[in-house]
Amino acid sequence: MDQKIDYVFKIVLIGDSAVGKSQMLSRFARNEFSLDSKATIGVEFQTRTLVIQHKSVKAQIWDTAGQERYRAVTSAYYRGAVGAMLVYDITKRQSFDHIPRWLEELRGHADKNIVIILIGNKCDLESQRVVPTEDAKEFAQKEGLFFLETSALEGSNVETAFSTVLTEIFNIVN
Ligand code: GDP
Ligand code: MG
Repeated sequence: MDQKIDYVFKIVLIGDSAVGKSQMLSRFARNEFSLDSKATIGVEFQTRTLVIQHKSVKAQIWDTAGQERYRAVTSAYYRGAVGAMLVYDITKRQSFDHIPRWLEELRGHADKNIVIILIGNKCDLESQRVVPTEDAKEFAQKEGLFFLETSALEGSNVETAFSTVLTEIFNIVN
């Protein structure tokens, strides 16, 4: 049966290279994960359709094309985005320290009402953690962002992260 789509929401993934953006997307869109994922080549997005309050919502999730260098992500990438996932790796301090830059870039390019979630990925590597949950929580609160820690490897909180953003967008447009 043909599925009627009520909404299409564009979501962008941003954050340093190797934090797990492509694997988060792979987990969410196809329930797949790979430990030796190659650096993403070419701008691409994947979609998944979900039902929110009896409406079908197609999430169109964009992944960076290995353009994670500062200011290398083009404005076309952000255009039309209604949600963003700002991802760092809980085992890489630098990836968290760069979050304010990513946020600044996002706010410079995207719609001012964009829904943003801060994501601390790789929470399965607890023994290698260098970014305390509290630090990220505090930052998110100060900047008015949603916040979750995820593991694309184990799949924990990945579904919740995407649905948090999608439901918030849904509530804004309804
Ligand atoms: P991207 O550059 O941000 O797109 O990062 P990738 O998705 O390509 O992931 C970079 C590396 O981290 C790959 O080797 C992944 O397998 C690994 N990785 C991604 N997510 C996780 C996770 O949640 N836990 C662990 N342990 N490794 C992960
Ligand atoms: Mg990637």
